[in-house]
Amino acid sequence: MNIEVSALTSIYHHRTPFEHIALDELTTTFEQGKYYAVIGRTGSGKSTLIQHLNGLILPTRGNVRVGDLVLKKKTKQKVIHQVKKHVGMVFQFPEHQLFDETILKDVMFGPLNMGLSQEEAKERAEKYLSLLGVPLDQIGRSPFDLSGGQMRKIAIAGILAMEPEVLIVDEPTAGLDPKSHIETMKLFKEIQQEFNITIILVTHDMNDVFEYTDEVKLLGSGKLIKEGRTLDILTDEKLLTDHYLEIPDIVRLAHDVSKKGVALNRMPRNTD
Ligand code: ADP
Repeated sequence: MNIEVSALTSIYHHRTPFEHIALDELTTTFEQGKYYAVIGRTGSGKSTLIQHLNGLILPTRGNVRVGDLVLKKKTKQKVIHQVKKHVGMVFQFPEHQLFDETILKDVMFGPLNMGLSQEEAKERAEKYLSLLGVPLDQIGRSPFDLSGGQMRKIAIAGILAMEPEVLIVDEPTAGLDPKSHIETMKLFKEIQQEFNITIILVTHDMNDVFEYTDEVKLLGSGKLIKEGRTLDILTDEKLLTDHYLEIPDIVRLAHDVSKKGVALNRMPRNTD
């Protein structure tokens, strides 16, 4: 299922003295099965855009099409509920989304809410908990007894158990140590490849964007500045610098090596 964003304008506090245009006539497409990064400096509109993709915010003008479902200014709750089944969202610090008394119940909540039977929901929960390496003899425990990293896994299992076609991940590595950071990023890549789902990652970490994503959408002041292949966008050092984004280590290194290479060629040779 593709997501098509058409002339999307999003205004906070519309028609009040505090009116603020967060997205301005933005048009783009997210194709099924690809891994996207949404990048841009703070305040460029990333978070507003992703909240439009699963109906958390509705457009002020324009629309968002998720498969056959259309989100626009006055879309009904029933349609938004359908969209949420297709587009899952892992927020920053997903462990804050946990609430139930046991791990199993927590992961079953989403599937039950989608209308699955107890048995089906339990099956789904167990499938995704095992996939994330949570031992099934532990799932009767409270999620709040676990470490931060484990709690995050439970929260992610809860989203995956709804089997969304599109998974939006907002700064998933915030606050993680380097080892958990790599594990988390690898996990999303594996999920994307194994289930052929679309991933839309919002991050400031250009090394992750370089390593894991296929395509980039660069936002600036609520507009789409540039979109295209990750390699093309992340090797455009001027573009990144203009938008206050870091240059990925590997690009910086390649740049340094090529500059040094030129300098070495110019050095006088010892002809003895
Ligand atoms: P990003 O995720 O790229 O940092 P946001 O989508 O959060 O950008 O914000 C885009 C713009 O909208 C910013 O100027 C921000 O200050 C403004 N904004 C975000 N949320 C709100 C809100 N709830 N009320 C008013 N303005 C907001």
